[in-house]
Amino acid sequence: MCDMQPSPNVRVRINLARIKQNLQHVKIQTGVPVYAVVKADAYGLGAVKVAEAIKDITDGFCVFRLKEAIDAQLWQRTKKRVIALGPPEARLDPIPYIEQGVTPAVTTVEQAKALRAAKPILCVDTGMQRFACPPEQVAEVLSAGDIHEAFTHGTRIEHVEKLKKSVGRSDVKLHAAASALLHEPAAYLDAVRPGAALYDGAVHVSTRLAEVHESIGPAGYSGFVAPRHGVILAGYSNGLRKGVCSINGKTRNILEVGMQSAFVEIDECDKVGDEVVLLGESNPETLIAEQWPCSSQEVLVTLASSGVRVYES
Ligand SMILES: *Cc1c(COP(=O)(O)O)cnc(C)c1O
Repeated sequence: MCDMQPSPNVRVRINLARIKQNLQHVKIQTGVPVYAVVKADAYGLGAVKVAEAIKDITDGFCVFRLKEAIDAQLWQRTKKRVIALGPPEARLDPIPYIEQGVTPAVTTVEQAKALRAAKPILCVDTGMQRFACPPEQVAEVLSAGDIHEAFTHGTRIEHVEKLKKSVGRSDVKLHAAASALLHEPAAYLDAVRPGAALYDGAVHVSTRLAEVHESIGPAGYSGFVAPRHGVILAGYSNGLRKGVCSINGKTRNILEVGMQSAFVEIDECDKVGDEVVLLGESNPETLIAEQWPCSSQEVLVTLASSGVRVYES
């Protein structure tokens, strides 16, 4: 995905109460500490707003890199722990991590030694095969950094089992579950790290019909044929792709996407100014993900960044 530009004609409504509810639900469901994943500006929803909304409920936060925690001032705002899940900064200097209340994730003896003072966490490779420690080096890295917490980015229960087996020590806290494993109690271990599950149903993206036309023949770049069509002022430069939208309660297709505009299916009743829902209750990210096709996370980060954000608490 390249960097998308927000369209001034698209409104992104973020329901902070829903995010709180989702988090509460995960806490009750799992009964273990929850580290809310707010990487990538909270999947495009705005890390500062999300962190402020959930700081009294969450046990901590996860970002990808240190800079994200600094930019959002997560420690200063929330006083909750922050884990940087991605590879550590190349300088391997523990000071900025300590100052920012951020736990670095390490994967090698060199990183573990250098960042020891920042109380690092070990990232174990259980199948993902990227910035993670191979199982056979786990013991060595744990002792190099005096490490007492390890995690893996797992999507299946066998990854969880592999984590437990690779670490094999009862004095090391373990976590594995992101959203995909929240239905598996055996994956909860000592904490969970949900991202997408927190944002489920919390984002509503809409624009308005800028024009409506009775088609006079093949239309658009592709010469699509439809009895009539509407035009919206959001296109692929804003992250939009072909799929479903919803107009006046009916599911409609996006017929063709241009740079900053797109054609949508309409019927006789639809008028200029009517709302076109690009992401909402009847066309959630899971449905759009099947059509684009991609992951729900990609739909969220793309559409949440596609317009002007407004927050509802
Ligand atoms: C992104 C990420 C998560 C959260 O993933 P979701 O599928 O959005 O819940 C958890 N753990 C790690 C290591 C991640 O990179």
